[in-house]
Amino acid sequence: MERDSDSGPLSFSPMDWQREFATFGEADYRARQLYSWLHSRRVLEYGEMTNLPKSLRQRLAQQFPLSPPDASHKAKGRDGTVKYLLRAADGARFEAVFLPSRSGASLCVSTQAGCTFHCSFCATGTLGLTRNLTAGEILHQVYFLANEHKLPSYRVLLMGMGEPLANFQQVIKALKHLVHPDGQACSPRRITVSTVGLRGRISHLARELPGVELALSLHFPGDGQRQQHMPAAKRFPLGDLFDELITSEGLGKVTLEYLLLEGVNDTREDAAALATLAYGVVPRQRKAIPPSRLRSRFRGFNACHVNLIEYNPLPSAEFQPTPYAKAEDFQNYLKAAGVYATYRRSRGRDIAAACGMLTASEGRPGA
Ligand code: SF4
Repeated sequence: MERDSDSGPLSFSPMDWQREFATFGEADYRARQLYSWLHSRRVLEYGEMTNLPKSLRQRLAQQFPLSPPDASHKAKGRDGTVKYLLRAADGARFEAVFLPSRSGASLCVSTQAGCTFHCSFCATGTLGLTRNLTAGEILHQVYFLANEHKLPSYRVLLMGMGEPLANFQQVIKALKHLVHPDGQACSPRRITVSTVGLRGRISHLARELPGVELALSLHFPGDGQRQQHMPAAKRFPLGDLFDELITSEGLGKVTLEYLLLEGVNDTREDAAALATLAYGVVPRQRKAIPPSRLRSRFRGFNACHVNLIEYNPLPSAEFQPTPYAKAEDFQNYLKAAGVYATYRRSRGRDIAAACGMLTASEGRPGA
């Protein structure tokens, strides 16, 4: 990990701290103690690091302020979802969400304040991009949520505001801290990166963090509609995208994310096209990937897991969610085709928990 002072002190590696400490005559073991306080115990106040000398704590506070974003605005949903609107010192706003479930909590964090990609169904897409978040700001969201909800373990979802792979360096830096054995020691298999798919970045992610899981925001089973509603897809047609997915050595489980939009992408023909994609039959090749290869890629299944998602409509009401009975029919079609498909009801609907909705309801971020 390279030292990058703009990423904030939370992004410093143990070696970075050793170098800093050497300049003011502190021993190496102090750097390891500090790293453990920050990344293993998730203590975000130097004053509480009681095994460090008081003079060192004061110096750290002066030279390396942790400057946590303000997190005073939060909303709790009936299903236990808690959404936080965070505000950095420069006014950039972004969202982080605690998602409890019977199988354990997930922490959904943002990687950008806003987004450049303008997907037509997405609240964040209406905001434009204020700026990329730093590795420190991404980590801070995870530690803050884990501390708030007293979690010894959790899944991390990079599914909040922004396109993670468009902020590649900072995202990788943050994730390497999360999996660091002297930090949270998260398994990469408990980290899911959501992406619309950016050329070359999926394979790069897999090389940097083997085992990391990927949620591909597919949403439309053909290039025409996908490119119409997701401008980023124009630069990476489905054929090329699936080639990269299938050939990215080291990539963990892949899930296809599919928002069900009434009358837009929820017909039986759409389900059939989606099932074909889930089997790795890419439109350009028109031939199936050998099942043995798919089995290793999709963890023993012959096809990708498809996650159907209930849409949380925006105030513009341009799209509406597919009614439940029709969504069930769509899911059953996929199951009958041998595709493992789940249907996820919208979480925290009563608190605008879809990505970007809370920020959008308060106006442009950074404004
Ligand atoms: S869906 Fe993702 S990539 Fe598209 S606008 Fe929203 S945050 Fe950006």
